[in-house]
Amino acid sequence: MSQIELDVRNLKVFFSTPQGNFLAVNGINFQLHRGETLALVGESGCGKTVSALSILRLLPEPPAKITSGEIIFAGRNLLSLNAKQMREIRGKEIAMIFQDPMTSLNPVLTVGQQVIETLLRHKSLNKKEALKISAQLLGKVELPSPEEKLKQFPHQLSGGMRQRVMIAMALACEPKILIADEPTTALDVLIQAQILELLENLKNETGMSMLLITHDLGVVTEIAERVMVMYAGEGLETGSTKDLLDSPHHPYTKGLISSRPHLGSTREKGQRLTEISGSVPSPHQRPTGCAFHPRCDWSTEQCKTQKPLLQTPNQNRQFSCHLQPGSI
Ligand code: SF4
Repeated sequence: MSQIELDVRNLKVFFSTPQGNFLAVNGINFQLHRGETLALVGESGCGKTVSALSILRLLPEPPAKITSGEIIFAGRNLLSLNAKQMREIRGKEIAMIFQDPMTSLNPVLTVGQQVIETLLRHKSLNKKEALKISAQLLGKVELPSPEEKLKQFPHQLSGGMRQRVMIAMALACEPKILIADEPTTALDVLIQAQILELLENLKNETGMSMLLITHDLGVVTEIAERVMVMYAGEGLETGSTKDLLDSPHHPYTKGLISSRPHLGSTREKGQRLTEISGSVPSPHQRPTGCAFHPRCDWSTEQCKTQKPLLQTPNQNRQFSCHLQPGSI
Protein backbone atom coordinates (compact mmCIF):
# COMPACT_ATOMS: atom_id res chain seq x y z
CA MET A 1 0.00 0.00 0.00
CA SER A 2 1.29 3.48 -0.85
CA GLN A 3 2.20 6.28 1.53
CA ILE A 4 -0.43 7.57 3.96
CA GLU A 5 -1.63 11.04 2.95
CA LEU A 6 -4.20 11.55 5.72
CA ASP A 7 -4.53 9.70 9.01
CA VAL A 8 -7.71 10.23 11.04
CA ARG A 9 -7.42 8.81 14.55
CA ASN A 10 -10.19 8.42 17.10
CA LEU A 11 -12.07 11.51 15.86
CA LYS A 12 -15.00 12.53 18.05
CA VAL A 13 -17.31 15.42 17.20
CA PHE A 14 -19.82 16.63 19.73
CA PHE A 15 -22.87 18.85 19.04
CA SER A 16 -24.61 21.00 21.57
CA THR A 17 -28.18 21.85 20.49
CA PRO A 18 -31.37 23.10 22.21
CA GLN A 19 -32.71 19.52 21.87
CA GLY A 20 -29.70 18.14 23.75
CA ASN A 21 -26.08 17.18 23.28
CA PHE A 22 -24.87 14.30 21.15
CA LEU A 23 -21.83 12.75 19.51
CA ALA A 24 -22.22 13.06 15.73
CA VAL A 25 -18.93 11.27 15.13
CA ASN A 26 -17.91 8.72 17.71
CA GLY A 27 -14.26 7.76 17.47
CA ILE A 28 -13.72 7.03 13.78
CA ASN A 29 -10.36 5.93 12.39
CA PHE A 30 -9.27 5.77 8.78
CA GLN A 31 -6.28 6.33 6.56
CA LEU A 32 -6.27 7.79 3.08
CA HIS A 33 -3.33 6.62 0.98
CA ARG A 34 -1.59 8.64 -1.71
CA GLY A 35 -3.39 8.41 -5.04
CA GLU A 36 -6.30 6.30 -3.79
CA THR A 37 -10.03 6.97 -3.53
CA LEU A 38 -11.58 6.06 -0.21
CA ALA A 39 -15.37 6.22 0.03
CA LEU A 40 -17.25 6.96 3.26
CA VAL A 41 -20.61 5.28 2.79
CA GLY A 42 -23.84 5.18 4.76
CA GLU A 43 -27.36 6.55 5.05
CA SER A 44 -28.03 10.24 5.68
CA GLY A 45 -27.26 11.25 9.24
CA CYS A 46 -24.53 8.67 9.84
CA GLY A 47 -21.74 11.26 10.24
CA LYS A 48 -20.03 11.19 6.83
CA THR A 49 -20.25 14.89 6.06
CA VAL A 50 -19.48 15.94 9.64
CA SER A 51 -16.32 13.81 9.44
CA ALA A 52 -15.31 15.44 6.14
CA LEU A 53 -15.99 18.97 7.38
CA SER A 54 -13.96 18.24 10.53
CA ILE A 55 -10.89 17.52 8.40
CA LEU A 56 -11.02 21.06 7.01
CA ARG A 57 -12.20 22.48 10.35
CA LEU A 58 -15.27 23.91 8.62
CA LEU A 59 -17.81 23.01 11.30
CA PRO A 60 -19.29 26.00 13.11
CA GLU A 61 -18.06 25.99 16.72
CA PRO A 62 -20.47 26.12 18.55
CA PRO A 63 -22.67 24.10 18.13
CA ALA A 64 -19.98 21.64 17.00
CA LYS A 65 -16.87 20.79 18.99
CA ILE A 66 -14.15 18.32 18.10
CA THR A 67 -13.59 16.75 21.50
CA SER A 68 -10.84 14.26 20.74
CA GLY A 69 -8.67 12.72 18.08
CA GLU A 70 -5.96 13.63 15.63
CA ILE A 71 -6.05 14.37 11.91
CA ILE A 72 -2.50 13.95 10.64
CA PHE A 73 -1.66 15.56 7.29
CA ALA A 74 1.88 16.22 6.05
CA GLY A 75 3.29 15.48 9.50
CA ARG A 76 1.03 17.93 11.33
CA ASN A 77 -2.12 17.45 13.39
CA LEU A 78 -4.72 19.66 11.67
CA LEU A 79 -6.64 19.90 14.94
CA SER A 80 -3.76 21.79 16.55
CA LEU A 81 -3.35 24.42 13.80
CA ASN A 82 -4.54 28.00 14.19
CA ALA A 83 -7.03 29.71 11.85
CA LYS A 84 -4.31 31.25 9.63
CA GLN A 85 -2.50 27.92 9.23
CA MET A 86 -5.79 26.20 8.32
CA ARG A 87 -6.55 28.87 5.68
CA GLU A 88 -3.22 28.00 4.05
CA ILE A 89 -4.24 24.33 3.84
CA ARG A 90 -7.87 24.80 2.74
CA GLY A 91 -8.17 25.00 -1.01
CA LYS A 92 -4.43 24.71 -1.52
CA GLU A 93 -3.46 21.37 0.04
CA ILE A 94 -6.92 19.92 0.69
CA ALA A 95 -9.87 21.04 -1.43
CA MET A 96 -13.54 20.15 -1.22
CA ILE A 97 -16.48 19.99 -3.61
CA PHE A 98 -20.06 19.85 -2.43
CA GLN A 99 -23.30 18.21 -3.49
CA ASP A 100 -25.04 21.30 -4.82
CA PRO A 101 -22.75 23.68 -6.71
CA MET A 102 -25.51 26.30 -6.92
CA THR A 103 -25.32 26.89 -3.19
CA SER A 104 -21.49 26.82 -3.19
CA LEU A 105 -20.95 29.27 -6.06
CA ASN A 106 -21.61 32.96 -5.52
CA PRO A 107 -24.61 33.86 -7.74
CA VAL A 108 -23.58 37.52 -8.17
CA LEU A 109 -20.00 36.87 -9.34
CA THR A 110 -19.00 35.53 -12.74
CA VAL A 111 -17.36 32.12 -13.02
CA GLY A 112 -14.08 33.86 -13.89
CA GLN A 113 -14.16 36.08 -10.80
CA GLN A 114 -14.67 33.01 -8.61
CA VAL A 115 -11.99 30.83 -10.19
CA ILE A 116 -9.33 33.56 -10.16
CA GLU A 117 -10.13 34.37 -6.53
CA THR A 118 -8.90 30.91 -5.51
CA LEU A 119 -5.75 31.30 -7.62
CA LEU A 120 -4.93 34.81 -6.39
CA ARG A 121 -5.40 33.76 -2.75
CA HIS A 122 -2.87 30.94 -2.91
CA LYS A 123 -0.50 31.73 -5.80
CA SER A 124 1.74 34.65 -6.72
CA LEU A 125 -0.03 35.60 -9.94
CA ASN A 126 -1.35 38.80 -11.45
CA LYS A 127 -4.96 38.98 -12.63
CA LYS A 128 -4.09 38.41 -16.29
CA GLU A 129 -2.08 35.27 -15.50
CA ALA A 130 -4.84 34.01 -13.19
CA LEU A 131 -7.45 34.49 -15.92
CA LYS A 132 -5.34 32.53 -18.40
CA ILE A 133 -4.92 29.65 -15.93
CA SER A 134 -8.66 29.80 -15.11
CA ALA A 135 -9.50 29.24 -18.79
CA GLN A 136 -7.07 26.32 -18.89
CA LEU A 137 -8.70 24.84 -15.78
CA LEU A 138 -12.17 25.07 -17.33
CA GLY A 139 -10.77 23.33 -20.41
CA LYS A 140 -9.29 20.63 -18.19
CA VAL A 141 -12.72 19.86 -16.72
CA GLU A 142 -14.00 19.63 -20.31
CA LEU A 143 -16.19 22.74 -20.33
CA PRO A 144 -16.70 23.90 -23.91
CA SER A 145 -15.68 27.50 -24.80
CA PRO A 146 -13.82 28.16 -21.51
CA GLU A 147 -13.18 31.86 -22.22
CA GLU A 148 -16.91 32.41 -22.72
CA LYS A 149 -17.78 30.47 -19.57
CA LEU A 150 -15.49 32.70 -17.51
CA LYS A 151 -17.76 35.66 -18.34
CA GLN A 152 -20.98 33.86 -17.38
CA PHE A 153 -22.82 33.73 -14.05
CA PRO A 154 -23.60 30.39 -12.33
CA HIS A 155 -27.32 30.58 -13.18
CA GLN A 156 -26.44 30.62 -16.90
CA LEU A 157 -24.85 27.16 -16.63
CA SER A 158 -26.46 23.72 -16.31
CA GLY A 159 -26.07 21.69 -13.09
CA GLY A 160 -23.37 19.52 -14.66
CA MET A 161 -21.45 22.60 -15.88
CA ARG A 162 -21.64 24.21 -12.43
CA GLN A 163 -20.22 21.05 -10.88
CA ARG A 164 -17.38 21.15 -13.43
CA VAL A 165 -16.68 24.75 -12.38
CA MET A 166 -16.53 23.64 -8.74
CA ILE A 167 -14.10 20.87 -9.67
CA ALA A 168 -11.96 23.37 -11.61
CA MET A 169 -11.87 25.66 -8.57
CA ALA A 170 -10.99 22.76 -6.30
CA LEU A 171 -8.14 21.71 -8.58
CA ALA A 172 -6.83 25.25 -9.12
CA CYS A 173 -4.00 24.88 -6.62
CA GLU A 174 -3.28 21.21 -7.35
CA PRO A 175 -4.36 19.90 -3.94
CA LYS A 176 -2.95 16.68 -2.52
CA ILE A 177 -6.42 15.66 -1.34
CA LEU A 178 -9.84 16.28 -2.83
CA ILE A 179 -12.86 15.75 -0.58
CA ALA A 180 -15.94 15.17 -2.73
CA ASP A 181 -19.17 15.30 -0.73
CA GLU A 182 -21.95 13.61 -2.74
CA PRO A 183 -20.58 15.28 -5.90
CA THR A 184 -23.12 13.74 -8.26
CA THR A 185 -26.29 13.41 -6.18
CA ALA A 186 -27.94 16.54 -7.63
CA LEU A 187 -27.21 15.50 -11.24
CA ASP A 188 -29.07 13.25 -13.66
CA VAL A 189 -27.68 9.80 -14.36
CA LEU A 190 -25.88 10.61 -17.61
CA ILE A 191 -24.14 13.71 -16.22
CA GLN A 192 -23.36 11.78 -13.04
CA ALA A 193 -21.42 9.20 -15.07
CA GLN A 194 -19.52 11.96 -16.91
CA ILE A 195 -18.55 13.73 -13.66
CA LEU A 196 -17.39 10.46 -12.07
CA GLU A 197 -15.26 9.68 -15.12
CA LEU A 198 -13.83 13.20 -15.03
CA LEU A 199 -12.94 12.91 -11.33
CA GLU A 200 -11.31 9.53 -11.91
CA ASN A 201 -9.27 10.85 -14.87
CA LEU A 202 -8.17 13.96 -12.98
CA LYS A 203 -7.19 11.89 -9.97
CA ASN A 204 -5.06 9.59 -12.12
CA GLU A 205 -3.52 12.52 -13.97
CA THR A 206 -2.59 14.54 -10.86
CA GLY A 207 -1.86 11.70 -8.43
CA MET A 208 -4.06 13.30 -5.76
CA SER A 209 -6.03 11.28 -3.21
CA MET A 210 -9.79 11.49 -2.99
CA LEU A 211 -12.12 11.13 -0.04
CA LEU A 212 -15.54 10.46 -1.50
CA ILE A 213 -18.66 10.91 0.61
CA THR A 214 -21.66 9.06 -0.76
CA HIS A 215 -24.74 7.03 0.09
CA ASP A 216 -24.64 5.37 -3.32
CA LEU A 217 -22.84 2.04 -3.64
CA GLY A 218 -23.08 2.36 -7.43
CA VAL A 219 -20.82 5.41 -7.27
CA VAL A 220 -18.46 3.55 -4.93
CA THR A 221 -18.15 0.67 -7.38
CA GLU A 222 -17.30 3.12 -10.15
CA ILE A 223 -14.36 4.93 -8.57
CA ALA A 224 -13.40 3.91 -5.02
CA GLU A 225 -10.57 1.49 -4.25
CA ARG A 226 -11.53 1.21 -0.58
CA VAL A 227 -14.66 1.82 1.47
CA MET A 228 -15.53 2.64 5.05
CA VAL A 229 -19.16 1.99 5.96
CA MET A 230 -20.45 4.41 8.59
CA TYR A 231 -23.46 4.20 10.88
CA ALA A 232 -24.51 6.38 13.83
CA GLY A 233 -21.20 8.24 13.74
CA GLU A 234 -19.04 5.11 13.76
CA GLY A 235 -17.04 3.22 11.17
CA LEU A 236 -18.58 -0.27 11.04
CA GLU A 237 -16.63 -1.94 8.27
CA THR A 238 -13.59 -1.04 6.17
CA GLY A 239 -12.02 -2.91 3.27
CA SER A 240 -11.21 -2.91 -0.40
CA THR A 241 -14.29 -2.17 -2.49
CA LYS A 242 -14.35 -5.53 -4.23
CA ASP A 243 -13.77 -7.58 -1.07
CA LEU A 244 -16.30 -5.68 0.95
CA LEU A 245 -19.04 -5.80 -1.69
CA ASP A 246 -18.36 -9.46 -2.57
CA SER A 247 -18.34 -10.67 1.02
CA PRO A 248 -19.59 -8.22 3.64
CA HIS A 249 -18.91 -9.21 7.27
CA HIS A 250 -21.17 -6.62 8.89
CA PRO A 251 -24.99 -6.98 8.70
CA TYR A 252 -25.39 -3.26 7.92
CA THR A 253 -23.01 -3.52 4.94
CA LYS A 254 -24.94 -6.57 3.76
CA GLY A 255 -28.21 -4.62 4.11
CA LEU A 256 -26.87 -1.72 2.05
CA ILE A 257 -25.73 -4.10 -0.69
CA SER A 258 -29.03 -6.02 -0.73
CA SER A 259 -31.08 -2.83 -0.99
CA ARG A 260 -29.28 -1.75 -4.17
CA PRO A 261 -31.28 -2.09 -7.36
CA HIS A 262 -29.50 -4.41 -9.83
CA LEU A 263 -29.73 -4.08 -13.55
CA GLY A 264 -31.03 -7.38 -14.96
CA SER A 265 -32.10 -8.74 -11.55
CA THR A 266 -34.74 -11.45 -11.60
CA ARG A 267 -37.18 -9.52 -9.40
CA GLU A 268 -40.84 -10.15 -10.28
CA LYS A 269 -42.83 -7.18 -11.55
CA GLY A 270 -44.21 -5.27 -8.56
CA GLN A 271 -41.86 -7.02 -6.13
CA ARG A 272 -40.34 -4.52 -3.71
CA LEU A 273 -36.60 -3.99 -3.28
CA THR A 274 -35.08 -5.48 -0.16
CA GLU A 275 -34.78 -2.80 2.52
CA ILE A 276 -33.13 -2.39 5.90
CA SER A 277 -36.00 -2.22 8.36
CA GLY A 278 -36.37 0.85 10.57
CA SER A 279 -34.34 4.01 10.24
CA VAL A 280 -31.10 5.59 11.39
CA PRO A 281 -31.46 6.39 15.12
CA SER A 282 -31.75 10.01 16.20
CA PRO A 283 -28.34 11.14 17.45
CA HIS A 284 -30.07 12.12 20.71
CA GLN A 285 -31.26 8.54 21.25
CA ARG A 286 -28.36 6.33 20.35
CA PRO A 287 -29.21 2.68 21.11
CA THR A 288 -27.16 0.93 23.78
CA GLY A 289 -24.65 -1.78 22.85
CA CYS A 290 -24.37 -2.10 19.09
CA ALA A 291 -26.05 1.00 17.61
CA PHE A 292 -27.41 -1.11 14.74
CA HIS A 293 -29.12 -3.72 16.96
CA PRO A 294 -32.74 -2.44 16.61
CA ARG A 295 -32.49 -2.98 12.83
CA CYS A 296 -30.31 -6.07 12.72
CA ASP A 297 -31.69 -9.51 11.78
CA TRP A 298 -28.82 -11.19 13.68
CA SER A 299 -29.21 -9.19 16.90
CA THR A 300 -28.87 -11.08 20.21
CA GLU A 301 -29.22 -10.08 23.88
CA GLN A 302 -25.46 -9.45 23.94
CA CYS A 303 -25.82 -6.93 21.09
CA LYS A 304 -28.32 -4.87 23.11
CA THR A 305 -25.87 -4.22 25.92
CA GLN A 306 -22.31 -4.76 24.70
CA LYS A 307 -20.63 -2.61 22.11
CA PRO A 308 -18.80 -4.94 19.69
CA LEU A 309 -15.01 -4.74 19.49
CA LEU A 310 -13.19 -4.18 16.23
CA GLN A 311 -12.25 -7.41 14.44
CA THR A 312 -9.42 -7.54 11.90
CA PRO A 313 -9.77 -10.74 9.87
CA ASN A 314 -6.88 -9.60 7.66
CA GLN A 315 -4.72 -6.48 7.35
CA ASN A 316 -7.04 -4.94 4.75
CA ARG A 317 -10.30 -5.60 6.52
CA GLN A 318 -11.90 -4.41 9.75
CA PHE A 319 -15.41 -4.63 11.11
CA SER A 320 -17.25 -4.12 14.41
CA CYS A 321 -19.74 -6.89 15.17
CA HIS A 322 -20.15 -9.73 17.66
CA LEU A 323 -20.51 -12.19 14.75
CA GLN A 324 -17.55 -14.03 13.30
CA PRO A 325 -16.53 -13.35 9.67
CA GLY A 326 -18.59 -15.44 7.27
CA SER A 327 -21.61 -15.73 9.62
CA ILE A 328 -24.06 -13.77 7.48
FE1 SF4 B 1 -26.07 -7.14 14.46
FE2 SF4 B 1 -25.12 -7.75 16.86
FE3 SF4 B 1 -23.45 -7.47 14.82
FE4 SF4 B 1 -24.66 -5.35 15.84
S1 SF4 B 1 -23.18 -6.67 16.88
S2 SF4 B 1 -24.45 -5.81 13.71
S3 SF4 B 1 -26.66 -6.19 16.36
S4 SF4 B 1 -25.05 -9.03 15.05
